[in-house]
Amino acid sequence: MIPFLDLEAAYLELKPEIDAAIARVLDSGWYIMGAELEAFEAEYAAYCEAGYCVGVANGLDALVLAIRALGIGQGDEVIVPSNTYIATWLAVSAVGATPVPVEPDPATHNIDPARIPAAIGPRTKVILPVHLYGQPADMEPILAIARDAGLAVVEDGAQAHGARYKGRRLGAHGDIVCWSFYPGKNLGALGDGGAITTNRADLAEKVAVLRNYGSREKYVNEVAGVNSRLDPLQAAVLRVKLTHLDAWNTRRTAAAAAYGAKLGDSGLTLPVVPDWAEPAWHLYVVRTSERDALKKRLDAAGIGTLIHYPIPPHMQAAFAQMGMAPDALPIAKRLADEVLSLPIGPHMREEVPASVAGCVQP
Ligand SMILES: *Cc1c(COP(=O)(O)O)cnc(C)c1O
Repeated sequence: MIPFLDLEAAYLELKPEIDAAIARVLDSGWYIMGAELEAFEAEYAAYCEAGYCVGVANGLDALVLAIRALGIGQGDEVIVPSNTYIATWLAVSAVGATPVPVEPDPATHNIDPARIPAAIGPRTKVILPVHLYGQPADMEPILAIARDAGLAVVEDGAQAHGARYKGRRLGAHGDIVCWSFYPGKNLGALGDGGAITTNRADLAEKVAVLRNYGSREKYVNEVAGVNSRLDPLQAAVLRVKLTHLDAWNTRRTAAAAAYGAKLGDSGLTLPVVPDWAEPAWHLYVVRTSERDALKKRLDAAGIGTLIHYPIPPHMQAAFAQMGMAPDALPIAKRLADEVLSLPIGPHMREEVPASVAGCVQP
């Protein structure tokens, strides 16, 4: 059996280091905020080529707090990709603002910058691109559109730890970047975790206050904040894993190259990587109109696959009040019917791409 992702192998490879880091936190007697968290925040900011990092409880909270830090709320509109994990949209609706979807470039699956201007209206405040599947979104035109229209740019980097856009690490291209450390992400904790990175001191400060009850000084609450802190235990685990992230992303890149070589003539539509992108290869997503049949054949051969995502946000019951017809966003709808994520990860066995190729052409 080939699992879609082997989280146990990831732990076992680093077990001595991770166990020592956890023991260090247990022995410290300090379990909320503190030095371990601050050390991770400094190290992750440096890794992301960003001025600041603030740890939070999960990726969804990172998005919500980033949007709140920008002062976005009721009556505001935020431009989001139609093709994304629902968290991107939920963060916008959580603050009372309205997500305004923009369709992707079908080649890259990421938000199509050329379609953004038509979605900008008098209430638009933010553009929120997602670096989906670990593939950087095309930031330069997005930032130019935002600058001209006076909009902020919030990036959802939850799938793209370590990716580079035009040679520079993701982390501070836009105003603020949101990260998830959910266990299955490229940089994954042993539980929930998240962070923001930014070059803007004002936004880092606002998120730092919001995540801790709106408080800078104990029992003095300046804004109505929330409890969304990154545990020192998770910070200690993430510090270990961060030192291996580049090596593990290199293994993912090799797996993607092997898929490209084995599946080149398969008839499947393979990922397209623009020459300015250095992806983190969180997912290796192929497309075919025969998706369900292919998934069945791979299942039968013991090869685990997933669909990211089977129902686009606009077709979810959670957004039924927006009253969007399925065909209102035809590209997102079609991708949901055709995409399939093949196994990929730092511990994927070398023979997997050949085994997958054998199932494509039975
Ligand atoms: C995982 C993910 C999130 C949310 O992260 P959580 O830590 O699970 O809350 C947000 N956006 C995208 C694109 C994701 O993949």
